Amino acid sequence: IFMVLLGVATASGLTVLVLILIEATTVLLPAETKFGVVFDAGSSHTSLFVYQWPADKEKDTGVVSQALACQAEGPGISSYASDPARAGESLRGCLEEALALVPEARQRETPMFLGATAGMRLLRQKNSSQARDILEAVSQVLGQSPLDFWGAEVLAGQDEGAFGWITVNYLLGRLIQYSSGQWTQPAQGTLVGALDMGGASTQICFVPRGPILDQSSQATFHLYGANYSVYTHSHLCFGRDQVLLRLLALLLQVSSPATLVRHPCYHSGYQTTLPLATLSESPCVHTAAPLDPTQNLTVEGTGNPGACVAAIHGLFNFSCQDQGDCAFNGVYQPPVQGQFYAFSNFYYTFHFLNLTSRQPLGTVNASVWDFCQRPWRLVEASYPGQERWLPDYCVSGLYILTLLRDGYGFREETWPSIEFQKQASGTDIGWTLGYMLNLTGMIPAEAPAEWRAQNY
Ligand code: AMP
Repeated sequence: IFMVLLGVATASGLTVLVLILIEATTVLLPAETKFGVVFDAGSSHTSLFVYQWPADKEKDTGVVSQALACQAEGPGISSYASDPARAGESLRGCLEEALALVPEARQRETPMFLGATAGMRLLRQKNSSQARDILEAVSQVLGQSPLDFWGAEVLAGQDEGAFGWITVNYLLGRLIQYSSGQWTQPAQGTLVGALDMGGASTQICFVPRGPILDQSSQATFHLYGANYSVYTHSHLCFGRDQVLLRLLALLLQVSSPATLVRHPCYHSGYQTTLPLATLSESPCVHTAAPLDPTQNLTVEGTGNPGACVAAIHGLFNFSCQDQGDCAFNGVYQPPVQGQFYAFSNFYYTFHFLNLTSRQPLGTVNASVWDFCQRPWRLVEASYPGQERWLPDYCVSGLYILTLLRDGYGFREETWPSIEFQKQASGTDIGWTLGYMLNLTGMIPAEAPAEWRAQNY
């Protein structure tokens, strides 16, 4: 019931106070929903995510959820170097889907971002003006939409890793907690590290036990009143697609004739051909002799996991590990510590291989070897409709094992702390959510004092 007190001036100059009692039938309206849109312009393809959250809970942790995930048609934007306008066009389909979802009245206040990752990082290294033209072309398309476009940029590798870390810990509610009537900081031991693998790079981000001895791989945040210092690194050219190309180029160097590779990482009986241009055009492939891009290359699987692991080792230089805190190729890394979420390609591969239920490392290794040794005709027959990625799961599995064990230093004892996951709380895990939360200031530096009163 509302009480309304009205002062009414009468002709005689007297003010009469009128008390009106109104019985309200419906006073609880649903909280207004806000939206945010992020394009993840990866090396192999572009995705769009629409996030939503109740406006009155904007600065709470874990309230943002995913309203839409859309896969753009065609390859990643870095593939349009010779025709940048098409990079912009490739985004229109997903943009339309986002516009159909966000109510018209909310569109002008809905922030939209585009972040490009390793594919564009590599193109920028090779030809910075082509990379700039692509960013301009996508900005032109997105800038014309009714949404509030904040800009398109190439993310630094360290930031890509750190935003993945923020996403995971935000979704799992590990940054702040409500218990026993008040907001508290969960112990830093409950924070979860992030392992991400795209097509061109792979990221690792976690809170180490000791100090971070290399400033360039340290990121610090002040979130909800607590300080965080994370180790974050992106290994360029160690994403799945580029590793596969580098491996092929490595084996090609020792092959004869120079157009046939007998490949131990593919199932026996498997055969494919591809243009040598695929290798020669990759910025991650470096060969002693130049490759003839007009020729085709034939690949024949031999299904030999031992020889495959030996070949994969050729892509790493582990010698720095003798000097202490080092992953590979001279990259500083403190010892891994705590629980980890492994997503994107880590998840796709291990999900396919049925290895996401925290099996011991020995079991995982044996299963991948077993799968690699199956003849191609049996594999093909067992997984109809999965042709697109099927030939590569063996090599991806062996590469992931090599990276996690020999590269990052996970052991039998620490292996169970890795959880292979695609989503947390119904939202895809990746850098995009952390990026949006950071840019929009939705994770406050301090936990506001009035929170307790406001929320409870
Ligand atoms: P990026 O485009 O850089 O984000 O990388 C995406 C990576 O995921 C690429 O290596 C793709 O080949 C790979 N990928 C995407 N979907 C699947 C899937 N369902 N199974 C296996 N690999 C996938």
